[in-house]
Amino acid sequence: TGRVEFANAGFSYDTDSPAVEGISLVAEPGMTVALVGPTGAGKSTVLNLLTRFYETDRGKILLDGHEIESLSKEWLRDHTGYVTQESFLFNSSLRENLRLAKPDATEDEIWAALENANAAHFVRELPEQLDTVAGERGVRFSGGEKQRLSIARALLKNPPLLLLDEATSALDNETERLVQQALETLRADRTSFVIAHRLSTVRKADLICVLQDGKLIEKGRHDELLAKGGL
Ligand code: ADP
Ligand code: ADP
Repeated sequence: TGRVEFANAGFSYDTDSPAVEGISLVAEPGMTVALVGPTGAGKSTVLNLLTRFYETDRGKILLDGHEIESLSKEWLRDHTGYVTQESFLFNSSLRENLRLAKPDATEDEIWAALENANAAHFVRELPEQLDTVAGERGVRFSGGEKQRLSIARALLKNPPLLLLDEATSALDNETERLVQQALETLRADRTSFVIAHRLSTVRKADLICVLQDGKLIEKGRHDELLAKGGL
């Protein structure tokens, strides 16, 4: 499971000109799709359409053959991992945040996920922050820590569809390596969409989608695009 198909999908926020249009692509289970392109090209919009945070207004998006509009947002949330620094909810405690991913998670599972996301050490230093409400007056985490916590939550959830924005990520090389390892080994048939900024991520992707002005102007593997001069 986790096959994603965009069939001529498009979306306009409120203006006349669409933020994305005519997007067609197929991601088979297990594939990593890298979304690349300049700011404003439509990369985040593509992810937002996949979570149904926004609804396509042209064409459609299919998940395992089902139009995502026919799937409940709740179901999608349960089957999707969304990783960004901003996706972490700061109005509840770290433990509650992690349990959002898996309500019946055991203490061992929580620590294993923190461990695999290279977040266990800074949580262990201040264990009380597990139950302290984060936010303005509570626990503060750095950008890189938030990103790792967000990854820990995704690992705990182990969703068939993973959406990742590495744009703002502040992971050091070691963390990045651990995380990529964890993501790769935990589930071989997961489909991932990554807003990619690192060349290493782009190189490893099974499908690179080059967006410009809301249109998918090139797609293919790294070597194919290089040969075509598309990168
Ligand atoms: P990227 O992620 O590649 O930087 P976005 O998907 O954020 O691109 O943006 C695509 C287009 O949609 C841009 O023209 C951007 O200004 C516009 N856009 C993005 N978010 C909104 C929004 N919430 N309301 C109106 N327009 C938006
Ligand atoms: P509802 O309350 O109608 O179920 P939500 O707005 O809570 O809808 O969220 C719907 C889906 O969008 C969820 O999967 C959620 O994780 C995701 N989501 C929420 N905020 C964002 C965001 N800023 N960008 C992308 N996805 C988001």
